[in-house]
Amino acid sequence: MALQLVWFRSDLRLNDNRALAAAAARGPVLAVFLHSPAQWQAHGHGANKIDFWRRGVAALAEALGELNIPLLQRGIADFDAAPRTLLALAREHHAETLHFNREYPLNERRRDAAVQAAFSAAGLGSHGHHDAVAFAPGELLTGKGDYYGVFTPFAKAWHRHITAERLALADAPPAQTLPGIPSEPLPALDAALADEAIVGHQWPAGEAAADRLGHFLRYRSRHYLEQRDFPGVHGTSELSPYLALGMISYRQCLNAVMAENDGQLNEGDAGLAAWVNELVWREFYQHVAAGFPRVCRYQPFKQGTLALEWRDDDEGFAAWCEGRTGYPLVDAGMRQLVATGWMHNRLRMVTAMFLAKHLLIDWRRGEAFFLRHLVDGEFAANNGGWQWAASTGTDAVPYFRLFNPTTQSTRFDPDAEFIAHWVPELAPLPPRARHNPPAAERGRLGYPRPIVEHKAARQRALAAFKALG
Ligand SMILES: Cc1cc2nc3c(=O)[nH]c(=O)nc-3n(C[C@H](O)[C@H](O)[C@H](O)COP(=O)(O)OP(=O)(O)OC[C@H]3O[C@@H](n4cnc5c(N)ncnc54)[C@H](O)[C@@H]3O)c2cc1C
Repeated sequence: MALQLVWFRSDLRLNDNRALAAAAARGPVLAVFLHSPAQWQAHGHGANKIDFWRRGVAALAEALGELNIPLLQRGIADFDAAPRTLLALAREHHAETLHFNREYPLNERRRDAAVQAAFSAAGLGSHGHHDAVAFAPGELLTGKGDYYGVFTPFAKAWHRHITAERLALADAPPAQTLPGIPSEPLPALDAALADEAIVGHQWPAGEAAADRLGHFLRYRSRHYLEQRDFPGVHGTSELSPYLALGMISYRQCLNAVMAENDGQLNEGDAGLAAWVNELVWREFYQHVAAGFPRVCRYQPFKQGTLALEWRDDDEGFAAWCEGRTGYPLVDAGMRQLVATGWMHNRLRMVTAMFLAKHLLIDWRRGEAFFLRHLVDGEFAANNGGWQWAASTGTDAVPYFRLFNPTTQSTRFDPDAEFIAHWVPELAPLPPRARHNPPAAERGRLGYPRPIVEHKAARQRALAAFKALG
């Protein structure tokens, strides 16, 4: 049987991996991973995600090794080097076909098209599998044949068309005999980048993600609906870094939900159904990135907002990045991001909206800052979340809606414990005073005054959006 080359990217798992399973069904497998830290950085990813990626590849190498599947690892400068590097490996090892799971943002699609063209010109086979989402982009379209630009009808169509077949788990490959090809170690990483990563112990890499899923389903999922908005409670799955790099598949997640929920995805337990909805959001944004490639080119989804006059405000941006806006919940969220590489979803919404609306600073600056710090940084979800908050995107909040950060704080951190943890200078205050400390207390505790006043900032944002006509 002819050798199959499997190119891993953001699908770092043995179990339920469509490309790997298809390859293993045809012959012995040779795995390959191309490290391109410079390209990842050019795409905005920072040390936390790159470190997690590398640890994920190391865990994958170990798991593959147990099945005697060698993993070749090459460093490449950028995506342009992928076709020739893969072709050389395929020729050297007389591989018959290259298999990979598709990624949907624009540059990744271009890279894959170039690889497939090179393989086809060389008379070699290549196969891009759909694995990361239930429906390949283009499979779910509106009645008019367009990509969905609004979530709710997309989700309805998703639930209408989903079948057990689509969610069937792919087999893990069997152990094989492939003598003579040794696995290769991780290429060295630039020391500065390696030193910058801070997230190691919180996010053990690899398919240990499955334990996290089990923990979520056992202890958190039933309360998900009531608890998911409270940053001080561990009420969500905290699976995002694992889903972003494919250390667990969404199918594994959904099958586990069905096992707990009498086979249902949309009904039954309300917490589980709400969680499934989040996984559908994840898929929706993947389709948006594929169907509206302008969002991959720094463009707003809503083209009418292209002319919006964002403010040039480096000082305001620095205060936001460093968690010293004078709004305790905003500052707590930003400090959580910088210190841990992860931020609770409620705070992603609050902090993103604060930058785009209260400070009227271009959302793309915030999008880039998030991506640089997030261990789960993922283009489609991050871009979708930012454009939602800035009212430039699909489903975006109406431009006149601005979260009041103080109200958000009293609602979602009622005892201000999350604030006390991340903004410790406010911890000495009684909980109720931490949401919006009096000016004198701010001075005494070394906490800044609000950098903008809510009502005035609101008026300024409304005026900027109204000026678009
Ligand atoms: C401004 C902004 C930026 C964001 N950037 C990212 C990002 O870079 N990477 C990322 O994975 N998510 C991003 N999100 C979505 C969301 O905040 C995170 O997925 C979530 O907080 C991760 O925590 P969890 O795994 O505990 O989520 P859970 O609540 O347990 O949800 C389960 C999974 O569903 C997916 N999901 C949940 N919410 C969303 C959503 N709104 N959009 C898309 N997928 C979702 C994630 O894969 C998540 O792991 C962003 C949201 C906003 C508002």
